[in-house]
Amino acid sequence: MPRIGVPRAKLRVPRYGRRPRKQYEAILAKAKARYKCPRCNTQKVVRIRLGIWRCKKCGFEFTGGAWVPQTPSARTNYAAIMRARSQ
Ligand SMILES: [Zn+2]
Repeated sequence: MPRIGVPRAKLRVPRYGRRPRKQYEAILAKAKARYKCPRCNTQKVVRIRLGIWRCKKCGFEFTGGAWVPQTPSARTNYAAIMRARSQ
């Protein structure tokens, strides 16, 4: 089976080239960052699993993007659903 992704520890060594390492670190930084809670509006949302986000303050748990809580395509889809509903 082909390996998917690059193990994190191995990125500390000079391997795979500069670009994938840079990209991986940029994505990881996004995934580890704290985001605003859609329910209580505090900057306390952290990723607990791939695509699952939880607010540390109110405990609100929701699904979202793999690396960020809301992806641009999710926003577009949501807008399309709202438009279809109102008709
Ligand atoms: Zn919250």
